[in-house]
Amino acid sequence: MPDSRVHIIGGGLAGCEAAWQAARLGVAVTLHEMRPGRSTPVHKSGGLAELVCSNSFRGDKLDNAVGVLKDEMRRLGSIVMRAAEATRVPAGAALAVDRERFSAEVTAAITAHPLITIVRDEVPALPAADSGMYPLIVATGPLTSDTLSASIQQFVGREHLSFYDAISPIVLAETIDRTRVFRASRWGRSLGTAQHAPIEPAGPACGVDDGEGDYLNCPFTKAEYDAFYDALTHAESATVHDFDTATFFEGCLPIEVMAHRGRDTLRFGPMKPVGLTDPATGRQAYAVVQLRQDTLAGDHYSLVGFQTQLKWGEQARVLRMIPGLERAEFVRFGMVHRNTYINGPTVLRDTWQVRGRDDLFFAGQVSGVEGYVESAASGLMAGINAARVARGEAPLVAPRETALGALAYYVSHADPAHYQPTNVTFGIMPAFEGRVRKGRDRKVALAARAIEQLTAWAGQQAIPLAESGHRDVAHEG
Ligand SMILES: Cc1cc2nc3c(=O)[nH]c(=O)nc-3n(C[C@H](O)[C@H](O)[C@H](O)COP(=O)(O)OP(=O)(O)OC[C@H]3O[C@@H](n4cnc5c(N)ncnc54)[C@H](O)[C@@H]3O)c2cc1C
Repeated sequence: MPDSRVHIIGGGLAGCEAAWQAARLGVAVTLHEMRPGRSTPVHKSGGLAELVCSNSFRGDKLDNAVGVLKDEMRRLGSIVMRAAEATRVPAGAALAVDRERFSAEVTAAITAHPLITIVRDEVPALPAADSGMYPLIVATGPLTSDTLSASIQQFVGREHLSFYDAISPIVLAETIDRTRVFRASRWGRSLGTAQHAPIEPAGPACGVDDGEGDYLNCPFTKAEYDAFYDALTHAESATVHDFDTATFFEGCLPIEVMAHRGRDTLRFGPMKPVGLTDPATGRQAYAVVQLRQDTLAGDHYSLVGFQTQLKWGEQARVLRMIPGLERAEFVRFGMVHRNTYINGPTVLRDTWQVRGRDDLFFAGQVSGVEGYVESAASGLMAGINAARVARGEAPLVAPRETALGALAYYVSHADPAHYQPTNVTFGIMPAFEGRVRKGRDRKVALAARAIEQLTAWAGQQAIPLAESGHRDVAHEG
């Protein structure tokens, strides 16, 4: 019989939300937080739920997937959303907070809860099975302490824990100019087709076409390449934290770093044109940028091997010089930064439980999600499910059509070979069958479906819902 107390390691956004939700269900919680005794390279205080960078929880309208996720969280009684509302500062259509008051508000609520005990200690390794610390949620964030990281790595397998994010920008499929790009795999290789591939000179660089599937290819003339190269090498980079200046993996260099090594370096790396014949000219282009379709979010394409640290505005400006991306809408910008996270699809189920381990959960950034709201959202579901396991009940999964369900599905079912932590987007929700809706209509319809499904699901599971604080979806402007 499992211990009837839930243990959580990490008092950040995910850990606090998880503690709150488990306690709301009447289950006692011990929350282990190592600060202030031991801090991370980015945290500055001993407060719980400290926001380490921006003070924004991003969009707060229902024509935006993160707005839908917030709405679902509010309905499920989220402490993070409650504290954000209480400490809100003006930020147009976004939800931004006073960061100190926000952290103080969460700290006060968690501290005052009679069922939650906060222990200020570092948990140095995954606790032994007989430690009495299970059910356990690991919510130690992108800067999980070193010895615990090593222990998690040993548990999940060396190749399933990353210490860096090298994220390529992602664009929305409908904004790619299909008249300028062509679909092909290098050397004509494709899943299930004949293989006539010459031997590649060296192992592929990070994310470069592995020949396993079709790509959209953006072909450059020499003049286009030169203009792109000049813009790239003169663009402004984002400021990096001290710990980010550590050596990059040689195979995962930011494109601007590669570009600075020489005018042709990219043409021999992620922009190599060999093995790709442009049907418009019948010849190999001077250089090519490849776009890989996300297997789950079919309307997302990532720029293969294009991890970058350029400022977001600069990324949009420079990357729109790529033929076919002149009017591209970016679902996500590229980045390279320190981030400890497990390979979600290999390790987790959609309940946030480890495969084959009912009593062990991961939540927050370390589970393979990206962003403040997504971290808190995963904590919300992990908290509910850990409490249910503590009580001997089956864990729950929100419908895939909801933002909460879509996020859980993505983390547990995306392609493990190319896994990148993701923000919530409408692209990871199942598409509508039948009539294809576009643009804002589609988003509003997806939002309405998500809220409807969440409400029905909560009703079936007898989960009491709070007020959303939102107007009717149809009236969102
Ligand atoms: C530099 C940086 C900037 C970011 N900026 C943004 C941004 O602007 N917007 C955004 O949406 N997202 C941002 N993120 C991503 C992410 O949303 C945040 O990191 C977010 O705080 C993640 O929430 P979390 O609960 O998973 O982790 P955290 O909020 O980091 O919480 C984890 C907690 O676990 C504790 N801990 C770690 N190891 C142990 C241990 N062994 N024992 C006990 N306690 C431990 C830590 O002290 C920490 O309090 C950023 C990430 C980084 C690294």
